[in-house]
Amino acid sequence: MKKLFSLGLLVLFAMALVVAAGCGGEDSSDAKKVVVGTNPTFAPFESVDENGEYVGFDIDLIRAIGEVNNWNVVIKDYPFKGLVPALESSSIDACIAAMTIDEERENKVDFTVPYYQSGLCIAVLESNDSVKGIEDLEGKRIGVQLGTTGAKAAREIPGADVVDYKDVNSAYMSLGNESIDAVLNDYPVTANYISKSKDDDVKIVGEILNSEFYGIAVPKDKPEIQEEVNSALETLKENGEYAEIYKEWFAEAPAEFLPGEPAEK
Ligand code: GLN
Repeated sequence: MKKLFSLGLLVLFAMALVVAAGCGGEDSSDAKKVVVGTNPTFAPFESVDENGEYVGFDIDLIRAIGEVNNWNVVIKDYPFKGLVPALESSSIDACIAAMTIDEERENKVDFTVPYYQSGLCIAVLESNDSVKGIEDLEGKRIGVQLGTTGAKAAREIPGADVVDYKDVNSAYMSLGNESIDAVLNDYPVTANYISKSKDDDVKIVGEILNSEFYGIAVPKDKPEIQEEVNSALETLKENGEYAEIYKEWFAEAPAEFLPGEPAEK
């Protein structure tokens, strides 16, 4: 009888083990919780959809990275300007926010290998035919998102009256009511805004102004996260998942640039 009982226990124990092993995915108990900050006002990289879900290229990418690394990815919403301080205080483990790798930020946080090549562009009202490029922005009112590379570039334009907005969608809105003359922002985001917005009264003028690379930022004291992201990006690049995610959001294959292989800066 006793023997039978212990045999039963053994069977139960074995069953529990099988069940536990079967529970893969985000909630498995062995998954490492990784808190990732973002600023979801920057479609198609990160935004919140009508169901309140985080969506975008960055969101799919960080989830794919999380899957490779067996992470339980928890996404947290921050103002863009609050992301670097949140990394510095280690309130978050990483940040993915279409964030350009630049020297000033590199003094405060570490970046992974680049995962997207971008650049700034100028948007004006369709009816504006005096602004055709950056040289026409001298002395103009330029809307930017606070704390971005666009905000920095706008301040280098002689006599420019730079207006900071907490998100770039508010800047496009102000362009619509003519309280500013132009918006200086990342090209893919402005292009996405124009293609998605109902009123087609905004246009992009001139060339893409520069080349910037987005990286995932991590606290300086968390090199293990940086390494895990870099190796996961390598995996996703090799197994084609990076290209798949890219195609889904940009309707084209990633051309020459793949994560970790920046073209010249
Ligand atoms: N790429 C720009 C920057 O890093 C803008 C990023 C953003 O607004 N999310 O400053």
